[in-house]
Amino acid sequence: MYAEELTAAGPICDVCLGQRVAKIGHGLAAEVRGRLARAVCLASACAPERCWVCGGLFVHLSSYADRAAELAEDLEFATFLFGVRMPARLEATQEILDARFPSRWAEPVHREVTRSLGRAFERALARTGRTADVDFRRPDLRFTVDLDAGAVEPYVASLLLTGRYRKLVRGIPQTRWPCRSCGGAGCGQCGGTGRQYPVSVEELVVPPLVEAFGGEGGRLHGAGREDVDARMLGRGRPFVAEVDTPHRRSGDLDALSRAVNAQAGGKVEVHELRYASADSVERIKAARADKRYRARVAFSRAVADEELTDALRCVTGVVEQRTPLRVRHRRADLIRRRYVRQATGNMVTSLEAELVITGQAGLYIKELISGDGGGTRPSLAEALGIKARVVELDVLDVLDETPSGPASESRQLG
Ligand SMILES: [Zn+2]
Ligand SMILES: [Zn+2]
Repeated sequence: MYAEELTAAGPICDVCLGQRVAKIGHGLAAEVRGRLARAVCLASACAPERCWVCGGLFVHLSSYADRAAELAEDLEFATFLFGVRMPARLEATQEILDARFPSRWAEPVHREVTRSLGRAFERALARTGRTADVDFRRPDLRFTVDLDAGAVEPYVASLLLTGRYRKLVRGIPQTRWPCRSCGGAGCGQCGGTGRQYPVSVEELVVPPLVEAFGGEGGRLHGAGREDVDARMLGRGRPFVAEVDTPHRRSGDLDALSRAVNAQAGGKVEVHELRYASADSVERIKAARADKRYRARVAFSRAVADEELTDALRCVTGVVEQRTPLRVRHRRADLIRRRYVRQATGNMVTSLEAELVITGQAGLYIKELISGDGGGTRPSLAEALGIKARVVELDVLDVLDETPSGPASESRQLG
């Protein structure tokens, strides 16, 4: 009989014995299963320290859990998970056990180790009136216990918030933009700041959040980005803000929005701040929403209203856009097929028009107007047979519900 052979091979503690028949007494603690198995084969009890498999490991686990509870003392968290780095010796004995005493009811020892740590941690928390649940997917707090080194290493998951930002002034990039001359080291061009623009949306939004949640840094992920010189109006652009190593995970988000907006001094505003899940970062980054733009356009000669109307009709529909000259040095040189859903506007002087254009995600508006040296076709400049350029651009809306239209396509050049 299995338990008899196993107990005869050497001293083995109740927990280790129980793990070899784990799938039989499902729902019972390993220790209880082991005690039952031992009773069945009439083997004498084994002091845990004498166990040849674990060497009394399970007796000491609560000290690791206590240490983890100490580390968690000033952290706010609702969920946790333990991981364990097993001693090489224990891995080796596990292999011997599997080879010499194969059991289809056995469960690896490390599973009982992490389970015991979790239970002991919950008990340690309860002593200070706290509770938390195990979460296997994305726990707020993760501990790695290194049994050889006797160390407990905490890892605090970042806090994620979604919202929408409005950018009310021009000349602000979404994220910090290093100086073009020195690459960020600091030079005469940038006055030693190492930056091309004095401030970014990220730098206006994220630091107050980091401070409010007691974090150690953070970043902003936008659902796309507008040009530095374009404002972002309407309901704003969706984003996820990530706060690293937060000590707090709850707060009054409306009050926090107001504080961010007050500090940003009218340059940037955040709205609809909410707690977010892990997959929202990927979702926001992958979002391919249609946008509505307002463009102030200057022409090289006077244009009549009817002429403009005809030209706008001409650029509505499918356009082909080669990667713009202005970004070709840092982006793949492709021809993209994009959809202009709507283009309307009127002349405000004989040489300037104001346009409202709704386009598919990824549509380059400035190039749709100028033609970009033939890189975008059709274009407003081509349709009018003159030079045209955007002098001011605003994003009026980032549309959540993308209407079904021709799928975007790109093809590699060269
Ligand atoms: Zn043992
Ligand atoms: Zn510089």
